[in-house]
Amino acid sequence: MTEWDSTVDFVVVGSGGGGMVAALTAQEKGASVLLLEKQELIGGSTAMSGGVVWVPDNPVMRADGIPDSYDEAMAHFEAVVGDVGPASSFERRHAYLTAGPEMITFLQELGVGFVHCLGYSDYYSSAVGGKDEGRAVEPVPFDGRVLGEWLPKLQAGLAQSLGLAVMTNEARSLSNYNRSIGAFLISARVALRTVAARARRQVLLTNGASLIAQMLAIALARGIPVWTEAPLDDLIVEDGRVVGVRTVRAGLPTLVQARRGVLLAAGGFAHNPEMRGEYGGDQPNRAKWSMANPGDTGEAMQTAMALGAQTDLMDEAWWLPSPKTGRFGASTLDQARQRPRTIYVDAAGQRFVNESNSYMEVGKAMYARDKTSRAVPCWLIFDDRYRKRYAHLRSSPGRFPRKLLESGRLKQAWTLEDLARMCGIDGAGLADTVERFNANAEHGIDPDYGRGLSAYNKALGDPNHKVHPCLGPINEPPYFACEVLPGDIGTCGGLVTDEHARVLNEQQQPIDGLYAAGNITATVMGRHYLGPGASIANGMVFGYLAALDATGKHAAATRPTEPTENQE
Ligand SMILES: Cc1cc2nc3c(=O)[nH]c(=O)nc-3n(C[C@H](O)[C@H](O)[C@H](O)COP(=O)(O)OP(=O)(O)OC[C@H]3O[C@@H](n4cnc5c(N)ncnc54)[C@H](O)[C@@H]3O)c2cc1C
Repeated sequence: MTEWDSTVDFVVVGSGGGGMVAALTAQEKGASVLLLEKQELIGGSTAMSGGVVWVPDNPVMRADGIPDSYDEAMAHFEAVVGDVGPASSFERRHAYLTAGPEMITFLQELGVGFVHCLGYSDYYSSAVGGKDEGRAVEPVPFDGRVLGEWLPKLQAGLAQSLGLAVMTNEARSLSNYNRSIGAFLISARVALRTVAARARRQVLLTNGASLIAQMLAIALARGIPVWTEAPLDDLIVEDGRVVGVRTVRAGLPTLVQARRGVLLAAGGFAHNPEMRGEYGGDQPNRAKWSMANPGDTGEAMQTAMALGAQTDLMDEAWWLPSPKTGRFGASTLDQARQRPRTIYVDAAGQRFVNESNSYMEVGKAMYARDKTSRAVPCWLIFDDRYRKRYAHLRSSPGRFPRKLLESGRLKQAWTLEDLARMCGIDGAGLADTVERFNANAEHGIDPDYGRGLSAYNKALGDPNHKVHPCLGPINEPPYFACEVLPGDIGTCGGLVTDEHARVLNEQQQPIDGLYAAGNITATVMGRHYLGPGASIANGMVFGYLAALDATGKHAAATRPTEPTENQE
């Protein structure tokens, strides 16, 4: 028999969104919980993120009077995600859609504040069941001082690098502050909030940092032990059941018994070059371009695989096309593909995608195109009117950061032919493409790829651009080009889990005592990103379900668990 150093009911591995929700849920249901985090800092990619959480028919949007329903959301899953195997089975979608709103209510009741991201549309808003108004919520600004001595242990958030207390749904207005009164007023609100917080000496956290900080504050107040620099080293199995973990605490191996189970919420393997090389398939990625947190290295997943856990969707990631701007304005050109007067082209100088579509869709299109014409990297092309019109990171409109210009990463030429030569793109192909694109863009249409048709496309465009927020001709020299790589914000294939977040073995049977949630699993979203917050929601909802199952409680299912005739 194992000699345990300590015993709890439920061990949670990983302090991101899925892990935090699971720890709070299990504790609320009466279990003793231990949260293990291998890094010095808490929160994983969730803390670094926009903190947006995509949950259909959630209580926050309901309170704002935005109509939605389970049936619409289920139809949307069927229309967009389709059949991708067990990760997105009917049962798992059903569990996600029923437990999601309940999970948000649970967090609200504990004191976590959310607002609806109005107008941050579903990424497939034009598909059956899609919502133009959006289904995502994000955390309210939160004063990090509440965390006391734990504040320095929080993974730095998205807004911190900007020095602004900006919420995620406000961020698109910042870069359009000179383009519409609405965007200007939102930007002014952000500036005032930031200044007021400084005057009050607050450490105002927004985005994922607020999400994690709010949950961490509650976990600490409730006495949930959080061990940092305490990696999961191994899972302890007795009689076929996972009964505990081996971790390291203060440099010493420590055995912790988990009477009701272990949840792996340890993220994916975005930064593990061997795993990405092995599983990349048609979307090869050597882990060089990921923005995921540095702890995203996959060893917890490998530990479960060694126990016989089944995996799926291992070649998939939350792709994020990333203009290669280096450190000189990372977000400078990120949004360009969604604004007028820009296109993405392959080495033949041809377009291959609706550039304004979701980052995952465009990243996948780059890989798909690359099979026939080099599109990894592809090129972002834009003209001088684009440069003059939009603010580039902290520079004012019309000014690129000097270091970006000097870096040589941004190519500039007075003719498209010269630009193509500088980039190694086919000159005649580029000229033809731009001519055709311009002729249609003048009329606000894109018959080739349907850019600008959906509410989502328009939401991220230029609100004041005539004739269309996403489309405008590329016709004012000089012309510019920048390489674009298929970066990512994490991998999203991994352990196959059921509707209770139990890890399944190759025989589709649950591995007793073992749960998983978040990027360590094959996601319920399959190969699509349904809306802002689809990835964090995947982790949080299944973290919630895991804790309920481990503690013998279950989500208040309001729907049948078998597919109806229409859903088969
Ligand atoms: C800049 C950026 C912005 C993003 N914006 C959004 C957004 O707004 N909405 C959205 O849905 N998604 C967003 N994403 C993606 C999203 O953040 C991640 O997909 C999601 O947070 C992953 O959650 P997780 O709980 O699976 O993992 P994480 O949040 O990464 O947490 C996993 C934790 O487990 C720890 N860990 C790993 N191995 C071990 C081990 N062996 N032992 C102990 N601990 C371990 C890690 O150190 C990490 O802290 C963004 C990502 C980035 C990088």
